[in-house]
Amino acid sequence: MAFLFFTCPATHRQAPTGIETNVQSLQAAWKATLKVNCPHCGEMHEISVRETYINGALQDATDRLRNI
Ligand SMILES: [Zn+2]
Repeated sequence: MAFLFFTCPATHRQAPTGIETNVQSLQAAWKATLKVNCPHCGEMHEISVRETYINGALQDATDRLRNI
């Protein structure tokens, strides 16, 4: 499992969504949106799963997903 990250649209800083996922569940949720409490600006952001990313080992797998 790995943590999903997103980029805050207000501060353009990376932040963890607090959601842990793997490639299988990411693929299943690929068209969904997440509501995330942003640690940088304090706002609630609606983030498309497509716009999230995973640091580390699953990066290659998500890159492949994006190319589908
Ligand atoms: Zn934010």
